[in-house]
Amino acid sequence: MSRQITAPRGTRDLLPPETEAWGHVEATARDLARRYAFERIEIPLFERVELFARGLGESSDAVEKEMFRVSGARGSTEDGAEWALRPEPTAGIVRAYLEHGMHVRPGPLRLTLIGPMFRYDRPQAGRYRQFSQWDVEVLGDRGPAIDAELIELASRFYREVGLSGVVARVNSIGDAVCRPVYRQALVDHFTPHVERLSDDSQRRLALNPLRVLDDKELDPELAAGAPRSVDHLCDDCREHFHRVRALLDALAVPYEVDHRLVRGLDYYTRTAFEFVVEGREGQQQALGGGGRYDGLAEILGGRATPGIGFGVGLDRTLIALEEQGVAPPAAGPLVAVVGFEDDQADRLRVAATLREAGLAVRPDGTSRKLGKQLEAASKAGASWAAVVGEELREGRIGLKDLATGEQETVAVEEAAKRIGG
Ligand code: AMP
Repeated sequence: MSRQITAPRGTRDLLPPETEAWGHVEATARDLARRYAFERIEIPLFERVELFARGLGESSDAVEKEMFRVSGARGSTEDGAEWALRPEPTAGIVRAYLEHGMHVRPGPLRLTLIGPMFRYDRPQAGRYRQFSQWDVEVLGDRGPAIDAELIELASRFYREVGLSGVVARVNSIGDAVCRPVYRQALVDHFTPHVERLSDDSQRRLALNPLRVLDDKELDPELAAGAPRSVDHLCDDCREHFHRVRALLDALAVPYEVDHRLVRGLDYYTRTAFEFVVEGREGQQQALGGGGRYDGLAEILGGRATPGIGFGVGLDRTLIALEEQGVAPPAAGPLVAVVGFEDDQADRLRVAATLREAGLAVRPDGTSRKLGKQLEAASKAGASWAAVVGEELREGRIGLKDLATGEQETVAVEEAAKRIGG
């Protein structure tokens, strides 16, 4: 026998019944996207490496360490053939926005996407090489109302899927005017203690000192004394952040200001936010995050366009639901169609009628004994059995309640009504 092939490291198969819970989470996201008036967008799963290098920043983990490169066909010499699987969707969406001149459409544009993202990281619990996000992006809106609306939307998502204790952490990391001053303040603070920083942080201190703050290994004493971005904001950024918080208060969204929240990608400006389950912070398991990226369109060679968005991690949302013991809402009743003899045509006809009435139906395709068919139906989760026999000539079937064992003979249409209602 040849060796069995297994799934690649860092991926996972979604199997039933977990797919039920997954479907519920996805349906909640789609329904919220509709209620918040977002339009769907789809972009490729891979893009030019350059898009991510420029958009996310060379010093971001996503580009520096986690880029999942794709080389195309073996020996391909196609010009510029350097691609990577998308580590996040924002850069691709802004690329599409610019490429298709979407700015001419009445804005601001509200776009949404659900799909897989890829990061070639060391896999561990809750961290995969392929994972899925629900993403929303708003292009052409300076805020601050939209900032609050998006944070409120994500908070509502976690609540509506059934999670409790999810809080938003928010911060403002300034813009091109005030960030340089803040960067310098961080460099001045950390440089005398450089030997107390991790290797990663020592490197980042030169490239992107803000990222030193989200190093989990950062010495708590050094972290506590670190300059805070909120103390270095220019007037416009300070006013923006003040108004975002006032709006969140007005909407009664639970949030905390987190001075160490800087987000990992270079494109963020001003409002940055993340969602965590309270009390489980230490585990580096953010359920989602996002922020404003007013400079991204220009970095990608387009006209200046303010933007803001978030990505909700669907895999981690599912893990959190399981941890909190939240089951997906019960599916509708399942009906098995069983029969006595070789009457497959009758069984399939009855199944078709019940399905027309909107029911989920699983016909038994075997000619085993009725008792065996009913047993299999119960095991498969059916709560009713439609028993096809002689009475079908008068358009009637036996309707058996598999929980109580009670059975009566009714017209097929009547059976559908009873099961459905
Ligand atoms: P990020 O933009 O990195 O903050 O990602 C947004 C959200 O996607 C995170 O809060 C996670 O919920 C999820 N996420 C990011 N990376 C991974 C990963 N490697 N595996 C599973 N979920 C992830």
